[in-house]
Amino acid sequence: MTSVLVLNATYEPLSIVSLRRAIVLLLKEKAEVLEAAEERIHAANLSLPYPLVIRLVYYVRVPRRMVVPLSRRTLLARDNYTCQYCGVSASSAELTMDHVLPKVRGGETTWDNVVCACRACNSRKGSKTPEEAHMTLAREPARPQYLAFVVLSSASVHEVWGKYIPQIGQGHPTVLI
Ligand SMILES: [Zn+2]
Repeated sequence: MTSVLVLNATYEPLSIVSLRRAIVLLLKEKAEVLEAAEERIHAANLSLPYPLVIRLVYYVRVPRRMVVPLSRRTLLARDNYTCQYCGVSASSAELTMDHVLPKVRGGETTWDNVVCACRACNSRKGSKTPEEAHMTLAREPARPQYLAFVVLSSASVHEVWGKYIPQIGQGHPTVLI
């Protein structure tokens, strides 16, 4: 229990810091505690809640480098190596990048238009939309949050973080980019 999830003022996940750093932010009144463990921290003549999730009281602009680049590897990681049409789990070699709105029909290679698909589903779908092919997506594709990728590779993930990072709540496995 040494890492603390930091949310932006907007409640968006922003970072993970050490307990020590979190306490400094709290003492300087730069952050507030949103979730705490049952025990308290006693130091000198202070008694503080043991923070699990804190929220900055001011807004931090998210740097551009925190945007997850779209590649075959990051896409497969986002979709948990699972075909988004039939749900089959497969190895990297057996999976393809499918354009939901096909490229030939103007579909772009963006996080919200690509999904992981097995070869069978990809060829069945061809140049149709999911509706035309009578195929249903497991979930709407979206750009993954950078932080979720970092968190998922972190050794200590507190269950309560899932309230603020949907990817954890969805039970995604450990992935690294
Ligand atoms: Zn499939």
